Amino acid sequence: MKKDLILFGYTGSIGKQVLEVLSSASCKYRIVGIVSYSRTDGLDKILKKFKSIEAVGIVKGELNISGKKIYMGNVLQMISDYKNACVFNAVSGVNGLEVSLEAIDLGRTLFLANKESIVIGYKLLKKSLKANPKAKIIPIDSEHSSLYKLLSLKQKVKSIYITCSGGALRDLPLEKVGSANYEMVKKHPTWSMGDKITVDCATLVNKAFEVIEARFFFDYDFDSIHVLMHDESLIHALVELVDGSFSLELASNDMKIPIAYALNDCKRSEENFSKFNLVDLHFRKFEEERYPLFRLILNNFNENTTALAIISAADEIAVNAFINDEISFKDIYTIIVNTFKRVRQNDVDSILDIMHAISEANRVASEIIEEIRKG
Ligand code: NDP
Ligand code: MG
Repeated sequence: MKKDLILFGYTGSIGKQVLEVLSSASCKYRIVGIVSYSRTDGLDKILKKFKSIEAVGIVKGELNISGKKIYMGNVLQMISDYKNACVFNAVSGVNGLEVSLEAIDLGRTLFLANKESIVIGYKLLKKSLKANPKAKIIPIDSEHSSLYKLLSLKQKVKSIYITCSGGALRDLPLEKVGSANYEMVKKHPTWSMGDKITVDCATLVNKAFEVIEARFFFDYDFDSIHVLMHDESLIHALVELVDGSFSLELASNDMKIPIAYALNDCKRSEENFSKFNLVDLHFRKFEEERYPLFRLILNNFNENTTALAIISAADEIAVNAFINDEISFKDIYTIIVNTFKRVRQNDVDSILDIMHAISEANRVASEIIEEIRKG
């Protein structure tokens, strides 16, 4: 019998791919609930196609559908109402934390694409996992899904590597990077993804988050987690073995592969979602000066404080302003650094500490954007 699944973020890039994977007959899950923030794109079609959907949720706005259980505003309630359902978190940004925590607190299996949850809620998620032994988190990010596969081979591993394309501006002369606009940044060289993560790839905020995510999932110290710049994004992760050799995962750059693996109970799917030609593979030097936010994030990571909640919230506000053409690319750095300086860091004891840090950071980052706009 198929297991029940609730999908948060069905209108997004990952959410749509989850639905594609769920339509394959061999998938071990059936969808019972879907949630979005405010959009309802394609909802009629989705409800027609997936007869198993019983519940639809929306955080902001209204739903005009009949014959389904409706959640408006209180979308987390859907998780407790569907007592046997696993949860797929494909929400973008810091709002994803509440979904992750609710799923783990209720002892569920959580398929986690929303890496911001881990970065800002690291300590709380670890604590909740310990307190709820039935709960588990399965990584969806391509690098971490690959590491999960590689580490399950039980070889003697010395260190782990995640790869990084370098984002859309990787070949732009350094002196032109600061004035790049969204039109340039959205042309990611290897992946097609949602807006925020695409900008986070150009700043390498995404890769710094992924290093933290790798520590969370696999318990290696930061010194044993490496980033390898690789142009084609076909190698997703590598493990360095004790004898100096490497094992690696090479696959198409298609998120349906890690999604299908996760939704096949962490076994390789019989279905080939994405065929590709093995082309030349290229690697390049990691130019740290091109990506100053990468080091800023890793140097300031502290799971016991709100440091990363402040940085992540400032990043979200800055990225949004950049996408809306209100600021230039270099301002993203300025906004994050100055928000981080101005907002007080506190200890994390509960989600309220994180929510408070986020709302302070949102306020301060918005003020800085206003200052920049006024010149
Ligand atoms: P998108 O922006 O494309 O989609 C985000 C989705 O989240 C939308 O459906 C949005 O709804 C929904 N959403 C936002 N806030 C809430 C909320 N509070 N409650 C419920 N739903 C909400 O993002 P992506 O799909 O690109 O990314 C999702 C996550 O996966 C991110 O954390 C990203 O870093 C990670 N990820 C993405 C990859 C990719 O290939 N896209 C690869 C690896 C990781 P609405 O449409 O109504 O706004
Ligand atoms: Mg990734």
